[in-house]
Amino acid sequence: MKDERSGQNRNCRVRFAPSPTGPLHIGGVRTALYNYLFARQQQGTFILRIEDTDQVRYVPGAEQYIINSLQWFGLVPDEGPGFGGAYGPYRQSERKEIYDQYAMKLVHEGKAYYAFDTPDELEKYRESDPTFKYDASNRMKLRNSLNFTEAQTKQLLESSTEYVIRLKIDPKNSVTFQDRIRGEVTFSTDELDDKVILKGDGMPTYHLANIIDDHLMEISHVIRGEEWLSSTAHHVIMYDYFGWNPPEFAHLPLILKPSGKGKLSKRDGAKFGFPVFPLSWESGDPEDRFTGFKEDGYLPEAVLNFLVLLGWSPHSEKEMFTLDELIQVFDIENIVKSGARFDIDKALWFNQHYIIQSSNEDLAKKLIITCEKLGIQTNESYLLGVAALMKERVHKIDEMITSAMYFFLPPTSYDEGMIKKKYKSELGQHLEEIGKVVGSSESSSLEHNVKSYISEQSLKMGDIMPLLRIAISGTMQGPDLFETMSLVGLEESRRRISSSVEAYNKLIQ
Ligand code: GLU
Repeated sequence: MKDERSGQNRNCRVRFAPSPTGPLHIGGVRTALYNYLFARQQQGTFILRIEDTDQVRYVPGAEQYIINSLQWFGLVPDEGPGFGGAYGPYRQSERKEIYDQYAMKLVHEGKAYYAFDTPDELEKYRESDPTFKYDASNRMKLRNSLNFTEAQTKQLLESSTEYVIRLKIDPKNSVTFQDRIRGEVTFSTDELDDKVILKGDGMPTYHLANIIDDHLMEISHVIRGEEWLSSTAHHVIMYDYFGWNPPEFAHLPLILKPSGKGKLSKRDGAKFGFPVFPLSWESGDPEDRFTGFKEDGYLPEAVLNFLVLLGWSPHSEKEMFTLDELIQVFDIENIVKSGARFDIDKALWFNQHYIIQSSNEDLAKKLIITCEKLGIQTNESYLLGVAALMKERVHKIDEMITSAMYFFLPPTSYDEGMIKKKYKSELGQHLEEIGKVVGSSESSSLEHNVKSYISEQSLKMGDIMPLLRIAISGTMQGPDLFETMSLVGLEESRRRISSSVEAYNKLIQ
C-alpha cells in the first residue's frame, strides 16, 4: 500500500531499536544497515527507536553516539528522536504511560500477574537450584497474585509493597513462528519462564515495550540479532494475548571472533588491535575507551561494504558495492544462518579500494583533520598533493600522513643499511651538485636534469637514486621521488640533500 503523500510503502516499516547502554557495537551497525537496505528497497520507512527503559544500564551520551554513527554511515532514519515521524515519541522512556495500560490489561485478563518475591528471595531459589525458573512448575509456591487471594494482593499493592508484573505462560504448549532466515521456529512453552514485563521501578522490560511499540509503530518486519530469537517466543505469545498480528521476523547471524570461535566482543578490539566500534568512545573509565573505525582511518563506505558481507552474500563474484547498488541487490533470503567471522584484513582490503577510488579533494578534507590531531601545520591544497601521491600506498587514511612524515618535516634518521651499501665519500660532492640542480630546476624539468647530471658524470643510477630518495624521506619506501621532491619544494629538497651528505659521511665512519 502506497502512502499518497509520502510515496512510501506503508506495508514496509522497519526499525533499528538499540539500547543506549554504551557505544554501538559494529554488529549493531550491521543490523541497522540490513534494516536500512530493506526499507529503501521496499520504499518503506526506516525508524530509529531508542530502547532506554533499563535505567540501571543507561549510559548518558550513548544515544547521541548511536545517532552520530548512523549519520557517519549515511544510514539516516526517516523517523526517530530528532528525525520526526507520526508515531512518536521514539524514546521508550517517554512512553511509560502507554506500557502501563497494556500491562494492566494483561493482568485484568489473567494473562499476567503481580509477583511480590524480592530479588533476595529469588536469588536464594537460584542458589539452591541453578535451574530455577519462575514458571508454571513452581509459580504456585511463590509469592504472587495467582497464589494469593484478591484481598491479600490488594492489601500488598495498597501498602506499596514492591512488585513486578510477570507474563503467565501456559505450560505444555508450543509456539511457532516463521523466521525469514531460519524458516519455521518452534519453542515448547515448557522452556519459557514467566518473564517480567513490568519492573519494580514501574518501567516496562524490553519484552513488553518492544512488542507494544512494534505494534503501535506498525512495524512490518523485525530484523535483529540472533540473540533475540528465544525472546521471540515470548513476544509471539504476547501478540496473541493482545490479539495482534505479529510482524515478520528475521534473526541475523552472530558476528564471530577472528578465530571463528565465539561471539565478537567489545574487548576483542583491544585484544587484536582493531576497532569494533564505528566511532571512538571516550569515558572516565580507561577500560571503557575505544578507538572507532572512523578515527582509525577507515572510510564509512568501506566499513559498510565489509559489514554487509558479514552474513549476507550476493551469490556473485562481485564484492564492491555502493549503498545504492546494495539497495538494489540486497535480499533477506540470502542472509546465512551460521555466524560470520570478523576478518579485519578484509576490512582493510575494502578500505584500500575505497581510498583509491576517493577524490583527492575528499581525502584532503579528511587529512586536514588527521594533521590537526597530530599538530601538523599544513593546508588543504598541500594535502591534495599528499593524497594524490599516497592514496594507492595505504590501507588507512591516517597512514598517508603517519607513514610519510617527510612531507612535513625533513627526515630525522636515514636508512643506515642502504647508506652503508651505496654511499662512498667521493659521492658527497656529486650529491651537493645534484642538490643544486634540484634547487635550480622547475618541476617539469627536474627528472630530466637530475638524470642528465648522473649520466654525464658516469655515475650509477642504482647508487645515486637511493641516496637521493633517502635524503628526502629517510627511507626507501615512498611514492615517485621526483614527484615527492616537487611537492616538498625544490629548494627544501636541495637543503635536505645537502644535510644528508654530512649525515651519510658520519654513518660510514
Ligand atoms: N533493544 C534491543 C537491543 O538493544 C533491541 C532488540 C530488537 O531489535 O528487538 O538490541
